[in-house]
Amino acid sequence: MSANKTVLVINSGSSSIKYQLVDPVGEAEIAGGLVEQIGEPDGRIVHEFEGRRYELVGPIADHAAGLRLAYDMFADSGLNLDDAGIAAVGHRVVHGGTSFHEPTLITGEVLAEIVRLSELAPLHNPPNAIGIEVAREHFPDLPHVAVFDTGFFRSLPEAAATYAIDREVAAAYGVRRYGFHGTSHEYVSRQVPQLLGREPAETNTIVLHLGNGASASAVRGGVAVETSMGLTPLEGLVMGTRPGDLDPGILLHLHRTAGMNVEDLDVLLNRRSGLKGMSGVNDFRELGRLRAEGDAAAQLAYEVYVHRLRKYVGAYLAVLGRVDAIAFTAGVGENAADVREDALAGLERLGVAVDAARNRAPGRGARVISAESSEVSVLVVPTNEELAIAQAAWRFV
Ligand code: AMP
Repeated sequence: MSANKTVLVINSGSSSIKYQLVDPVGEAEIAGGLVEQIGEPDGRIVHEFEGRRYELVGPIADHAAGLRLAYDMFADSGLNLDDAGIAAVGHRVVHGGTSFHEPTLITGEVLAEIVRLSELAPLHNPPNAIGIEVAREHFPDLPHVAVFDTGFFRSLPEAAATYAIDREVAAAYGVRRYGFHGTSHEYVSRQVPQLLGREPAETNTIVLHLGNGASASAVRGGVAVETSMGLTPLEGLVMGTRPGDLDPGILLHLHRTAGMNVEDLDVLLNRRSGLKGMSGVNDFRELGRLRAEGDAAAQLAYEVYVHRLRKYVGAYLAVLGRVDAIAFTAGVGENAADVREDALAGLERLGVAVDAARNRAPGRGARVISAESSEVSVLVVPTNEELAIAQAAWRFV
């Protein structure tokens, strides 16, 4: 019987469950996978262990069936979860509201509060809660720990967190800026001083998390002071299917002139906007292919994306006053050299210069891509939200 030293990390979304078995001390991913299209006829699970890939296709009725399938996949691939030394289960939860900031041991009361917070995150907290319920049934004797996407941004100054609307309405309905992707922003902003050999308390960093969702943060001495997402993950940068910043008058205009109701606007903002809305595709690699073919809509979408990113970098240079590092992370940030180059081009007067060769050099790990002359270090830092969640859960063991 092995000593318990692994953590199962679960990220349960509306129609998918991402899971990973992590060694939090050795900082290693042991196995993991993705259950997709839950509740649809064309369900799918892809599982990886020891460099081998396992795939199953077929309908997956619900999250309970999805998690059971993942459990079976572990066994089929030769790693029985009962013998995998699991000491805790870590759950990604999107919205902690003002109730939760720190990683929290899940009790019945905590779960009920996560469900109540669904009013702030109707697309995210309900499937997060279902994942927790199902996993607690599977592993009733293990500690389950919720790690909140909003947690890192509890430190936002009031001036950054407050929307300029009627204060009574704001207070009554919890309308303020919470921020998201906090686990990633925290992880990356802690890596930066280590990589640069600097004191964390003396390091000011702009983190650009560019994935399917995208957000920027300004971190002063390890403390988040500004971020681009707000009450919901719709605000800020241009994303795969979400618009980021928008004149709120657009919603009133579309309601009045196009007869769009709340559901129509929800679909427009969450699924029909961003790169997808502008170009027809939300995947950055496909966008690149379309641009290479001379597709004008794809080219414009790219330019809108990069322009917004530059605006945020400029804003956060001003918010922080002195910036030591700019770190790119997540799928686009780690892989799309053109985005990094174009977003920061021409900022030499502000102390930012990307070295073209370093930026283009193939690489997977953390690396510096700024020129020697650049006052601000520019880095690519692969994010690892699963490891961060596993390490947070490990503290409860
Ligand atoms: P994430 O949400 O972090 O998984 O990021 C997903 C996004 O990263 C998608 O838009 C992908 O197209 C994009 N992405 C992944 N790999 C690459 C790559 N090699 N080049 C450009 N974009 C990529």
